[in-house]
Amino acid sequence: MPELPEVETVRRGIEARAAGRRIVRVEAPGRRTVRRFGRESLVDGLTGATIVGVRRHGKYLVCPLDTGFAVMIHLRMSGRVLVSAAHEPRPPHTHVVMVLEPRGVGDEELRFVDPRTFGEVVVFDPDRADEQVPELGRLGPDALDPDLDGGALRRRLAGRRTAIKAALLDQRTVAGIGNIYADEILHRARIGPRREAGRLSPATVGRLHHEMRAVLELAVERGGSTLDDTQYVDVEGATGSFQDEHLVYGRAGEVCRSCGRTRISRTVVAGRTTCWCRRCQR
Ligand SMILES: [Zn+2]
Repeated sequence: MPELPEVETVRRGIEARAAGRRIVRVEAPGRRTVRRFGRESLVDGLTGATIVGVRRHGKYLVCPLDTGFAVMIHLRMSGRVLVSAAHEPRPPHTHVVMVLEPRGVGDEELRFVDPRTFGEVVVFDPDRADEQVPELGRLGPDALDPDLDGGALRRRLAGRRTAIKAALLDQRTVAGIGNIYADEILHRARIGPRREAGRLSPATVGRLHHEMRAVLELAVERGGSTLDDTQYVDVEGATGSFQDEHLVYGRAGEVCRSCGRTRISRTVVAGRTTCWCRRCQR
């Protein structure tokens, strides 16, 4: 599932390739992708509109339009956004197509491709966001929000009796972290995934905060992680490379790259497969 670094990579791609361009035509063959308000609402809301920017909050993309409306894109499990020449064949599972006003080159399309169809593309009225896209209002601060310093993270974890891994996965604590980056962050911060979130010392939360930023920023630089099962790619169709730098995720049974002495353990925390080193993480 795409997490903050992958969604940020997509955000940058949409900003570079589609922002400032008018959407001249919209097709929405996939019914599940437009399940919230239906196909007609999406086509009407996007046709003729210009994407004026692309914001990201956690794993959500929000593109304000010049009409005063905005479009929310959530990739969920397997969603992809591609910007492709219109003459290139559309990949299977292309559920939404926005034909963009030509810019020097031939016609281009922004395509939402989603084999598992959990993702969504929703046009909404920002003044009615609370009722139309209530999930956005429930998110905690973005994990890379500059205002989220170590003290702020400590306050958000205070009193939480849950495992720290569960707290990191909870999008109300901080938004953007999923299973891959939770494991990588906890390993680099040397924190056992089952430690009680509210009982971490200030120094430990400081380390967690530092590694959270470091891991996510590095992963953004690498264009995210592309795994065999998710097939995540950027808007140009290119894979990320941060998977080559994973220290624990997907490495259960292999020797720990940090200590070189213990094999990576696999367990289940908060219902999710969790990889960690018993020697490095306490
Ligand atoms: Zn280790």
